[in-house]
Amino acid sequence: KESQAEKFQRQHMDPDTSTITASYCNEMMKRRNMTVGQCKPVNTFIHEPLPDVQAVCFQRNVPCKNGQPNCYQSNSKMRITDCRLKKGSKYPKCDYETQQLHKSIIVACEGNPYVPVHFDGSV
Ligand code: ADP
Repeated sequence: KESQAEKFQRQHMDPDTSTITASYCNEMMKRRNMTVGQCKPVNTFIHEPLPDVQAVCFQRNVPCKNGQPNCYQSNSKMRITDCRLKKGSKYPKCDYETQQLHKSIIVACEGNPYVPVHFDGSV
């Protein structure tokens, strides 16, 4: 079974893509199984090495959106792509807007080893 850490990597990690096209989110949201049963409304991919993202669990502790205390903000800005379902897009035709950004990320971490399990946002 997929662990929470593996699920985070499936949903949020894409270290090796250099060129992001307008169809990036449509392709990746499908390829990473986030269009099964419903279109996941918003999702962010991170284009940085996995160890750099895992290290965020030991950077600045910030409150999570849900009030839990296990969120961390990256010291550095990271290359990310936000995927947002377009208005009027209806399952099973999941049509996303692709937006490249350079921002500090916030992740929730859990477990031993203490690793990212949820993407909380970017600032
Ligand atoms: P994501 O939120 O990264 O898009 P999911 O919603 O599929 O992905 O999974 C998030 C997982 O992280 C859930 O299993 C949730 O219980 C867990 N989690 C741990 N800490 C938090 C937190 N502070 N806020 C939200 N989810 C958290």
